[in-house]
Amino acid sequence: MMSSLVKNYIGGQWVLSHSDVLFESLNPATEEVLAQAPLSTAEDVAAAVAAAKAAYDKWRLTPAPRRGEILFRVAEILKERKQQIAELMTREMGKIVAETGGDVQEAIDMAYYMGGEGRRLMGYTAPVEMPNKFGMALRDPVGVVGLITPWNFPIAVPSWKILPALIAGNTIVWKPGEDVPASAAAFAQVFADAGLPPGVLNVVSGAGATGAALVEHPDVRVISFTGSTTTGLDVYTKAARLGKKVTLEMGGKNAIIVMDDANLDLAADAITWSAYGTTGQRCTATSRLIVHRQVKAPLMERLVAKARAIRVGDGLLPETTMGPLVNRRALDKVAGYMDVARAEGAVIVTGGTRSPLAKGFFFEPTLLDNVQAGSRIEQEEIFGPVLAVVAVDSLEEAVRVNNGTAYGLSSSIFTENVNAAFRAIRDITTGIVYINHGTTGAEIQFPFGGTRGTGNGMREAGQAGLTSFTEWKSVYVDFSGRLQRAQIDTDAVLGETSS
Ligand code: ADP
Repeated sequence: MMSSLVKNYIGGQWVLSHSDVLFESLNPATEEVLAQAPLSTAEDVAAAVAAAKAAYDKWRLTPAPRRGEILFRVAEILKERKQQIAELMTREMGKIVAETGGDVQEAIDMAYYMGGEGRRLMGYTAPVEMPNKFGMALRDPVGVVGLITPWNFPIAVPSWKILPALIAGNTIVWKPGEDVPASAAAFAQVFADAGLPPGVLNVVSGAGATGAALVEHPDVRVISFTGSTTTGLDVYTKAARLGKKVTLEMGGKNAIIVMDDANLDLAADAITWSAYGTTGQRCTATSRLIVHRQVKAPLMERLVAKARAIRVGDGLLPETTMGPLVNRRALDKVAGYMDVARAEGAVIVTGGTRSPLAKGFFFEPTLLDNVQAGSRIEQEEIFGPVLAVVAVDSLEEAVRVNNGTAYGLSSSIFTENVNAAFRAIRDITTGIVYINHGTTGAEIQFPFGGTRGTGNGMREAGQAGLTSFTEWKSVYVDFSGRLQRAQIDTDAVLGETSS
């Protein structure tokens, strides 16, 4: 397949970057170059921000239900192009077509959901102190927002940011992950074809420096970031100095707890899917199994059989059940963790090696037994098909181990005991909790995000997802025709305390 040159999308045009330095997007299954894209400069970012700024007033004043209609068209076009975009994504970042199809589906769901917000976007009214006076709280757009996204969900993660930002009336500059420029361009084209006015959504390709230029641009008031913890904290620090609002979605070290009364077949299915789906590269991937000692042996037997039955290969082939890691750096990182595991006394029960395929960044589904709570393998985000198993003796210990990492994204417990399930819901401190389900599978109508080192308290998706992209405006309308007493009292109090 010929590689294509991805351009920037600015002011409704596909344009060349000011930079002639290109980076390559490789197909991780074949190591062939799929696309090339520019390492866009601060000048490119400034042009994109200027286009977004110029488009803002008209978009802001477009009635929200009309904005919603464009989002519905985005959903319809995505439905038509689902297979085509899914295959492009598989070629670009490796996960199997069933999963890249799910990635597009999330964007379709989000487009319908946020399109519907065009007729809600609820504020509220509340009673006020005086007669002939009315009070309400409205959601206003913020202006130009900057979006920075990673490669693992090339369409879904950007959709969680782009669609709420649009329906709220903001204009956008988006810097996609450097492993997926072609997928990002295909997504941007959908918005263009849906009739989104020029300048409302702008896309600049590039790596860290391009993202940093966006963070630092004075006309960008909000940064919504998904990616690694190190980068996220860097973005947060720079943006904080400039007084910007930031939404961060960073690492995870998600666990499934399996209690001694669990349905082990169900648990084994869910663990396998959550640990090895997307080659373990979801932010919500299960990377720890916290299992009650009494059921560990029969569960491990099931898990080893399932891991060995996984067919590693090119995600475009129908028989493949697990694709490659995204790039060579990711492969080296995961392989490096095998040495850490051995040094810490963990036992590699299955996997632990690169797959014996001539080309591609493949790693075998890996199960690590005898992992100690607090060890590096148990604490650090590996972002690969590696599951670490920790044995425990009680629900209390299981919850303690579950909560005992720097991250707080997703957890799950398998139990048939309603008391244990509700205790877990109460005591688990992650942002997402599942009962008798894997750690993945969040739906777009609920808040998505994590506690502790996973985020900064913000959430994406659902109604909560509008928070990043709106400002509250409180409005008081006094129709009494005179200055009312409560107002005078407040002024008097303020006058006393401020002088
Ligand atoms: P990942 O490991 O998922 O690639 P990163 O945190 O490195 O995670 O990247 C997430 C996104 O952040 C990517 O779009 C990347 O280009 C961008 N990025 C990387 N470094 C910076 C930075 N210093 N400032 C802003 N964005 C950055």
